[in-house]
Amino acid sequence: MGERQECAICNRADATATYIGQLQTFDFECSRCGNYLIAEPAYLQLLNSEPKPSRFRAVLSEWVDNQNSNGEKPTITSDKAS
Ligand SMILES: [Zn+2]
Repeated sequence: MGERQECAICNRADATATYIGQLQTFDFECSRCGNYLIAEPAYLQLLNSEPKPSRFRAVLSEWVDNQNSNGEKPTITSDKAS
């Protein structure tokens, strides 16, 4: 099970995250954005460089939600986050 952690995208406090050490990736579940994977460098980039909230975060959240609707679990990498 994931641990409670602020969503990397929308910063909701009630998201959960599981760190997959093998992939250096976080597996997030957020009640607003949905389920997504985010690579550690992209996670740190969002954490340190992206304003909260921002247009970019809104777009990313919507993108994840769309992917989930298609039955996909998207992965956010640092090229996506830049
Ligand atoms: Zn979220």
